Amino acid sequence: MSERNAYLIINAGSSSLKFCVFQGSGTEDLEVVFTGQMSGIGTQQAKFEAKDAHKHVLASTALDQSDRAALLGYLLDWIRSQLGGAKLVAAGHRVVHGGTRFAAPVRVTPQVMAELEAIVPLAPLHQPHNLAAIGALADVYPELPQVACFDTAFHQSQPWQSQVFAIPRELTQEGVRRYGFHGLSYEYIAHRLPQVAPELADARVLVCHLGSGASLCAMAAGRSVDTTMGFTALDGVPMGTRPGTIDPGVLIYLMRQKGYGADEIEKLLYHKSGMLGVSGISNDMRDLEGSEAPEAAEAVELFCHGVAKQGAALAASMGGLDAVVFTAGVGENSTLVRARVTEKLGWLGVRLDPAANRAKATRISAADSRIPVYVIPTDEEQMIARHTLRVLQAEQAAPVLAAAD
Ligand code: AMP
Repeated sequence: MSERNAYLIINAGSSSLKFCVFQGSGTEDLEVVFTGQMSGIGTQQAKFEAKDAHKHVLASTALDQSDRAALLGYLLDWIRSQLGGAKLVAAGHRVVHGGTRFAAPVRVTPQVMAELEAIVPLAPLHQPHNLAAIGALADVYPELPQVACFDTAFHQSQPWQSQVFAIPRELTQEGVRRYGFHGLSYEYIAHRLPQVAPELADARVLVCHLGSGASLCAMAAGRSVDTTMGFTALDGVPMGTRPGTIDPGVLIYLMRQKGYGADEIEKLLYHKSGMLGVSGISNDMRDLEGSEAPEAAEAVELFCHGVAKQGAALAASMGGLDAVVFTAGVGENSTLVRARVTEKLGWLGVRLDPAANRAKATRISAADSRIPVYVIPTDEEQMIARHTLRVLQAEQAAPVLAAAD
C-alpha cells in the first residue's frame, strides 16, 4: 500500500452520521486528520460539520439535500478536497450486530450485505442505519472498499455459559442468546492495557465502559469471557435512558395490567428509563452531579450500585479479579462515579488514591491497593481504522500466500 493512505470511518445513526478520517501507512501510525458529523439526515435540515485534529472548525454548513446518498457524496467530495497528497483507500463502518456469523471485521460484498440484512431483526433500531450508510456509499463510490466492524464480535470468545439464556434450546439455536456490545471499545482497551501496564497482559480485568450506554466486560488475557449487555443493548447496568437488568415480570405486568404494547415498552426501555427516569431531571451524569435534588443523587447511587454489583458478578465469571479499568464518557470523566464504584468494590481489595482520581491520572488506585485501577480513554474509531487497514492488507497478502502454496 502506498504511503499517506486515508481511511474514512463511519458511525451511522438514524438521523446523524459521525465520521473520522485517519491517515497513515500502517496500523501503528494511523492519525486522525478530520472528525465531524452530518446531522438532520432525512429532515431537510441537514447540517455538515468538520474539525481538524486540533478541534478547529473546518466546515459548518447547512445543506439543502436530505438524501443519505447525496449527503455521503457531499462528504466524500469534501474529504477528497482536503486530503492533499493522500488517497482515500477504504471506508470502515461501525456495525452494531454481527450475529453468530461474524466474529471478525469483514470486507463488505453483496453476499455479506445480504447476511447483514438478515440480522436486522436482532438490532432493528440500529442495524438498518449502519447498513444504509454502507449502501449509500457504495452507490456514490462503488470502487471504494468498505469494511464492516462489529460491536458484537469481540464477545464471540466467551464460553457457552456466558452466551446463553436459560430458555428452551430451540430459541437459543434461533439466535435468542447473549451477544454483548461495545466490543470495539473493549478490543481497544485489550490492545491498550498491556501498553499501559505490561504486567496485566494475562490478567483478569473488569473493564467498565460507562457512557450514555454502559456495560461491563470480564476480560481475561485480553479476551472477553462475559459481559453485562445481552441480546440487546438494554441489559446490564443502568444507563442514561435504559434501565439495565429488569425483572421481565415487570414487562408482563405492564402489558397485562396497563395495556402496554411493544412500541410503548420499547420507548420505556430505550428512552424513558435509566438516569433520566429515576431522576426526572437528565440522562447526563454532569447534570445529575451538579444537581441538589435528592432524586439526582439517588440516580447516581443506583448507577454506581448497579456497576459494582454486576462488576462483582463478572469477577465470579473470571474466577477472580486482578485489575479494574474505567473508560467512556462517564468512566473517563466522573471522579464521583469512579470513587463510589471502587468504594463499593473495596471488599475485593480495591482502594483508590483520591488525589490521583481527582487528577484524572492513568492509575488511580492507592499504592497498597491489591487491585490496581486504571482510567484508559477508549477509541473505537481507531480500532475500526486498524481493522479496515488489516482487512485490506490481508486481502492483498492472500494471493501471494496462495501462489506460494
Ligand atoms: P459517551 O457515550 O461515552 O460519549 O459518554 C457520554 C456521557 O458521558 C455523557 O452523557 C455524560 O453523562 C458523561 N460525561 C461526560 N463528561 C462528564 C463529566 N465531566 N462528568 C461526568 N460525566 C460526564
